[in-house]
Amino acid sequence: MSVTVVGSLNEDVLVAVDRLPGRGETVVGRDAVLAPGGKGANQAAAAGLLSGAGVVMVGRVGDDPAGGRQLEALAGAGVDTAGVRRTPGTPTGSATIPVEDGSGENLIVVVPGANAALAPADVDVPAVRRAAVVLLQLEVPLETVRAAADTASGTVVLTPAPPRPLPPELLARVAVLVPNEHELVQLAGAGAGARTPAELAALARTLGVPTVVVTLGAQGALVVPADGPAVLQAPPPVQAVDTTGAGDCFTGALGTALARGAGPADAVREAVAAAALSTTGPGARGALPDAAAVHEVLP
Ligand code: ADP
Repeated sequence: MSVTVVGSLNEDVLVAVDRLPGRGETVVGRDAVLAPGGKGANQAAAAGLLSGAGVVMVGRVGDDPAGGRQLEALAGAGVDTAGVRRTPGTPTGSATIPVEDGSGENLIVVVPGANAALAPADVDVPAVRRAAVVLLQLEVPLETVRAAADTASGTVVLTPAPPRPLPPELLARVAVLVPNEHELVQLAGAGAGARTPAELAALARTLGVPTVVVTLGAQGALVVPADGPAVLQAPPPVQAVDTTGAGDCFTGALGTALARGAGPADAVREAVAAAALSTTGPGARGALPDAAAVHEVLP
């Protein structure tokens, strides 16, 4: 029973501003808060806190203080970071995020830094070969994502974010695809517009992946098996204050449950509960739940 995450580690720089700057404009931020981030590392932290052990992160950070902070944060969540290489002469990835007071709206500028150096050779390791579940996203080079999917012998779970066209050879290796609605629509090459769960399920089935799990924000998630009916799993009632990283917590929890041997429907039930709880505190990792907290709110 193990989960290996191959993906990004970033340092988020959250800057509080009265209002977001326009093009060519300067605004003065009130304060800047550093927070650990990156889709890959967020998924690993969520899985680590839920499972307590057996979660491995494979990625790259720079040989700089920000890199050290990312490793420490993951270790604090119980994640094995031996698979994270430090890359001299390259900064740790970062995301600078001005957040507007009141509205909470933001802008995001990502500098991939060391994440862009994660190479196919880095994923040719036992932690990827032997993990029960391998979690992948698209914040590291696509050729590395493909190599990890090819190397894995366990269940490959892919979050297609940030969205980009996926080669069919990669999709063919994916057992569970976890897009949000916007990513699904883009991947399926469909037009924008509101869709019913039945319409989303039909789009998901065009991708040819055994299970597609479409995350739907406050509505929960739609499980779409290749055959059999799609099921909408609603979240438990929570007071959401910040949904940043809810999708990453969702996938970390999903991977943890699948690695334990749960079927897709039960794994999604747990993931929906964990992600709902993660929205009750600030930032991507401010309210990640442990297993006991999830079981308390499971329907
Ligand atoms: P992303 O953040 O990747 O766009 P979503 O917004 O779909 O993804 O959120 C991911 C998951 O987080 C959802 O499937 C749901 O389980 C949970 N979630 C998100 N927002 C809320 C909310 N307001 N209340 C309860 N659960 C939420």
